Amino acid sequence: MAFNPRVRRYLIIFLIAGWAISLSYFFLRSNKPSRHNQKTTRFYRDNRLLMGTFWEVVSPDKRAGEIVFSETKRIEGLLSKYIPESEISQLNRIGRLKVSPDTFYIIKRSKEFWQETAGAFDISVAPLVDIWGFSDQKHKVPSIDLIQDTLGLVGSDKIILHENDNVVEFKLSGMKIDLGAIAKGYALDCAAVRLKEKGISNCLINAGGQVYALGKGPKGNWRIVIQNPRKRQVSGIIELEKEESISTSGDYEQFFFDKGKRYSHIINPKTGYPATNDISSVTVIAGSALEADALSTAIFVLGKGKGEELSKRFPGTKIKIYQ
Ligand code: FAD
Ligand code: MG
Repeated sequence: MAFNPRVRRYLIIFLIAGWAISLSYFFLRSNKPSRHNQKTTRFYRDNRLLMGTFWEVVSPDKRAGEIVFSETKRIEGLLSKYIPESEISQLNRIGRLKVSPDTFYIIKRSKEFWQETAGAFDISVAPLVDIWGFSDQKHKVPSIDLIQDTLGLVGSDKIILHENDNVVEFKLSGMKIDLGAIAKGYALDCAAVRLKEKGISNCLINAGGQVYALGKGPKGNWRIVIQNPRKRQVSGIIELEKEESISTSGDYEQFFFDKGKRYSHIINPKTGYPATNDISSVTVIAGSALEADALSTAIFVLGKGKGEELSKRFPGTKIKIYQ
């Protein structure tokens, strides 16, 4: 599996488990109980590289790490465009495929987000992500002609879902989809279900910066330290309720400069260019990790005003925008 710069998010949003601990101690010792807390419940932590980023699991139940990692690996095997035999890679090559219920579900939810966000969230941006060099990390500014031609392949209305037999079909040859803005969230939701099935009710999962909190930490609600990504300053501590996820999207992590201009990996599907607006990042907290993931990307494309309007249509969702 390839490795990319998202690991830097470890320095941007990190977990605290209710007491002051050094990052190196917290992250580098794997699956060992915390000595800070020996008189009370022991918490174990475990980490793994999955979906091109670090995943970390903290729980009083030693089994939690393996449960989360094996579920994530299963979903990665279906949805990763970086794995040639995944369902998404096959679909992108041949344009029509009978897929598993997981893959069908996430494409269907993605199409719903496309509608709810007036097209700001669009998994069919994949060909644009490719021409800007964000898939292979060979960043470049494409020609205007290439952007215009590629825009013709974009639009989730051109993804046809055959509900009766789970077949997904593209209307145009050359279309592709990219679930990079939603699949991590889906994997977190699925992992939480697997944990609960095994009777595990307290666990924190950090998927390269997107966090899911289940139950309680060592000292009550799980607490997350947030840094302003551009200014690299701690901007607050957020307490997550017992089943909540926090997702951040922005232009501070995967980007390049060309002629002094910053280009980030989140693409505006209407223009074909990396999204530029009045915000540098947006953090979304929601009960569903899939929803937090998709909404943070969409709000980043829409900008502050329209993004705030959008979030109001998702009850219980909280957002913080950095300008
Ligand atoms: P988000 O804001 O959540 O998503 C941004 C990403 O979504 C972009 O990078 C692009 O891919 C896509 N996107 C851009 N614009 C839009 C838009 N308007 N609407 C919808 N989507 C958009 N990376 C690797 O380098 N190696 C790997 O092996 C690897 N494996 C992966 C496997 C899976 C299953 C997934 C989901 C991702 C994988 N990645 C891998 C990609 C990497 O993790 C992504 O960069 C990451 O998903 C982006 O997440 P984010 O939270 O940083 O940004
Ligand atoms: Mg996202």
